[in-house]
Amino acid sequence: MRTDTSEDPHRQRLRERLEAIFIRTEKATSWHDEAGRLRSLVNHEGFVPVSTKLPVEDIDFLAGARDDLLTFSELGLRLLDLHQPRDAGGITSDAAHPILRCRSCMWRWPCPTFRAISESFGADREGAALSELA
Ligand SMILES: [Zn+2]
Repeated sequence: MRTDTSEDPHRQRLRERLEAIFIRTEKATSWHDEAGRLRSLVNHEGFVPVSTKLPVEDIDFLAGARDDLLTFSELGLRLLDLHQPRDAGGITSDAAHPILRCRSCMWRWPCPTFRAISESFGADREGAALSELA
C-alpha cells in the first residue's frame, strides 16, 4: 500500500480507513460455498441452527461487515449520481452521437470514475457472480 507523507491528512485518513476495511475483509473466510450448503438446511421458520468455529479474523470482519457494505453501496450510489453524462455542446459532425462529457469531472464520457465503478460492479461482474451461484 502507498504511503506518501506529503499527502493531505484528510485524504490519508480516508485511505487508511479503506485499506483497513480491505485488509480486514481479505483476512476473513469467504462464506460463499458454506452459504450454499447452509441454504439447503433452512427450516420452516427460515433459520438454520449453526454451530461453527469462528477465527478472530472472521469475527472482526463480521462485526463491521454490514456497516461497511452499507457505506460502500451508499458511496457507489453517490458517485453514480455525481458522474453522469451530459451533452458537451458544440458542433459535431455526427448529430446522432453527440460528444458527451461527465457533468462532474468534465472528462469525456465515460469518465474514469464511472469506468472504475463499472469495472467493479458492472454487468460482467454481476454475470460472473450469478454464474458462481448456479
Ligand atoms: Zn466523472
